[in-house]
Amino acid sequence: MNSNNLLVKKEKDLLYVTFPAFDKTGLVAHCFTTKLGGVSEGYFSTLNLGFNRGDANNNVEQNYKLVCDAIDIDYNKLVFSHQVHEDKIYVVSSSDAGKGGIHGTDIKNMDALITNAINIPLVTLYADCVPIFLLDPVKKAIGIAHAGWRGTVKHIGKKTVQKMIETYQSNPKDILAGIAPSIGFCCFEVSEDVAEEFKKKFTKEQCKEIIEEKSNNKYMVDLWKANKFTLLEAGLEEDNITVTDLCTKCNSDIFFSHRATDGKRGSLAAIMALQD
Ligand SMILES: [Zn+2]
Repeated sequence: MNSNNLLVKKEKDLLYVTFPAFDKTGLVAHCFTTKLGGVSEGYFSTLNLGFNRGDANNNVEQNYKLVCDAIDIDYNKLVFSHQVHEDKIYVVSSSDAGKGGIHGTDIKNMDALITNAINIPLVTLYADCVPIFLLDPVKKAIGIAHAGWRGTVKHIGKKTVQKMIETYQSNPKDILAGIAPSIGFCCFEVSEDVAEEFKKKFTKEQCKEIIEEKSNNKYMVDLWKANKFTLLEAGLEEDNITVTDLCTKCNSDIFFSHRATDGKRGSLAAIMALQD
């Protein structure tokens, strides 16, 4: 797997990617996982990080421990989102440490998490949807947003930035963003009703760049660019946004892809923690 703008890292058999711009700050431990290097079997092979998909809990736990060891974060403090393709954002504090996974959680219906708590890792899950990593290196705050097509239409990226501004007094010009591997323009085909939702929420000019009509009454949609537009609208500098060049469906030998497998798949995780 080759990427022009992400770092592909390997720890024993475990393969994951990071954003160089985030690594350079020295402020966070972070990764977006692949499906390689874990202990799960069958169509969860091998690094499934989704509980409640039918995989054995102890395999998923073991997979998390492998990832946490690799990037040096505390497994017992992971805080999980509860993703429902909406646009609600939860402000995580130290007292949330350990919520989610197999431990249960009162964090419900939250597709994005933000925090300024040190050593509290945020976790969101994927298999084609768009992961948005956010880091304010000045106010020392982070966020991760889960943007499927519904979240993208609801501008969850922009709303997560706005929540960081409101909560941590972040200046959007300071914020670094990373759009991690997910389904690309090459593979994200939708029906007319979905394309219409984009047309309602993005400008005509933006739609010219993110929607392409095909001959079969289907449309290709560029979720990466759509999410980048929402981040620019939130005030981020273009140079501070890294957009992946890895499509999960094209690279379904390396990433879990919902569309490539008709849903018979494990889950990838976007994980990030502020370090002391
Ligand atoms: Zn593709």
